[in-house]
Amino acid sequence: MSNLWTKEHRKGFPLYVDLFEDLPLIYEKEFTKWNKQLDESQWKHVFLGNEYEPVKSNETAHQLNVIAIESFQFKDFRKSYELFNQALRFIDKKSPQMGVIFLKRAQCFFNMNMYEQCSADAYLARESNFPNNFLSDLDEYHNNCFEFIKQNERKAQTIKLSIDADKEYPCMANVVKIIKNDIHGMEVVATSDIDIGQTILVEEAFTSISNSFDTTTCFTCQKTCANFIPCERCVDVMFCSIECMGGSEIHKISCGEVYHRMPSYTKFVLQSILKAVVTFPSIDLLIKFVKAKILMQTVDMVMDAKMKNYELFFELTTSNQELPILLIHQVYTTLMKMTLIADLFSTKTKQRFLMHLVAHHAQVLLCNSYGGFEKEQNQQITATMTNVASFFEHSCTPNLMQFSIGNRTVLITNQFIKAGDHLYIDYWPEDEGGNNESTESRAILLQKNFNVSCKCRKCNPNKKALIIADPYMVSHPAYRWVLDYKKHMGSDTSALMKQQCINFLKEYKHASWSKEKDYIIKTYTECVLNEFDGTNPIHFK
Ligand SMILES: [Zn+2]
Ligand SMILES: [Zn+2]
Ligand SMILES: [Zn+2]
Repeated sequence: MSNLWTKEHRKGFPLYVDLFEDLPLIYEKEFTKWNKQLDESQWKHVFLGNEYEPVKSNETAHQLNVIAIESFQFKDFRKSYELFNQALRFIDKKSPQMGVIFLKRAQCFFNMNMYEQCSADAYLARESNFPNNFLSDLDEYHNNCFEFIKQNERKAQTIKLSIDADKEYPCMANVVKIIKNDIHGMEVVATSDIDIGQTILVEEAFTSISNSFDTTTCFTCQKTCANFIPCERCVDVMFCSIECMGGSEIHKISCGEVYHRMPSYTKFVLQSILKAVVTFPSIDLLIKFVKAKILMQTVDMVMDAKMKNYELFFELTTSNQELPILLIHQVYTTLMKMTLIADLFSTKTKQRFLMHLVAHHAQVLLCNSYGGFEKEQNQQITATMTNVASFFEHSCTPNLMQFSIGNRTVLITNQFIKAGDHLYIDYWPEDEGGNNESTESRAILLQKNFNVSCKCRKCNPNKKALIIADPYMVSHPAYRWVLDYKKHMGSDTSALMKQQCINFLKEYKHASWSKEKDYIIKTYTECVLNEFDGTNPIHFK
């Protein structure tokens, strides 16, 4: 039994219980170890396994610049680009070197065929004390890029809802609705037939972090491979644009704080608390809101869009696991070390509230968040928490494909959907190890990690459907075609392959799950994902 939001047994105004009291001795030891680390602020900026003092330093910038140039000479432009980002983090804003590094990064972009970004970096160079005698170099880059951009114009992709937006949840299409269900929380149901390949959700994250130190992402939108500009004061964050820099309420209250360099889950939970803090006009209102939610009363205050989004987050299913006390302790103690937060939570009552709020956030995040992958290097670089996307139930044979671009979650139908059908995503996809398990152990792990018991055909298998091939499906010409050509699938055959998958799935719209249908759905998904190759600019609408 978790004692989340439990109050002490005493008369008057009892506080929420102290979550760090009366614990087994082992916790005591871990707490002491952590507190020592926190006092000594041992976290450095780490890049490619090397540690750097986390303060602006032209000397550090120079060192990084030297290795960046080496990588460039070895034609490892991606690595060189990342190293120039690092150099930019450290360099003093007034240094004339800043403009020179921007130009060098432009050269990396040019060699990675990313001309829009190249031209944007040439512009940034000009704006940053660039030495006058080299200005003609910049003009040359600008002009070259312009030619290439003209040739490649069609490459830019736009992601937007395929169907009109829902009134209540504007990130979602109006052909689905969310139903509150007493037994298993939320479910999402189609209100009309939906075609294959329809984008039904494009949602910006409630909160997101980068958990890779080696790939720079925008602090606000988690974009990778962009024209990053460094925070003028700290070395911890970079932004992809002036808008992302100016729009970061969270960074305004946490610039220079050590949490940026902490282990990713500590960082993730902590940042979600900062998000709650900047969402409400005052801590008293935040407390009032949470109190109403816990007592299941109506919230008696004017709620703006941000507050409503926080409400969605707060109401999500929490893990029924024991509270992750060490994680909660790490986040709580780090928060209390931040002057601004310590000022806001100055009384014991408020501090106990914060302790439980951290625990609540940790439980929601552990149960609902997921990672985004960077396609090019196939490594997980972000952790994101999207609230509406979390309403979709799990199935190991989902009818939606899900992917993240930066801090956005996108859901697209991977088959034809009938009105009344439930919509499912896969909480534990194959590329995260979800399919390597036996049915039994998958069920246990799904229960443990996500608090779900899956009833899909794969988990509750009709053995016949699993083993025996469907003779009609197997001999379908589209199935044969996909089977024959899949080995040779490249960017040129992808569109044809996709069409064959659609033909097949149209024919077997109403057929239940089978190995063949599963195979075609997976192939279709691969084709769609191939369309979003990491280097092309993606616009959202
Ligand atoms: Zn950004
Ligand atoms: Zn900063
Ligand atoms: Zn299942």
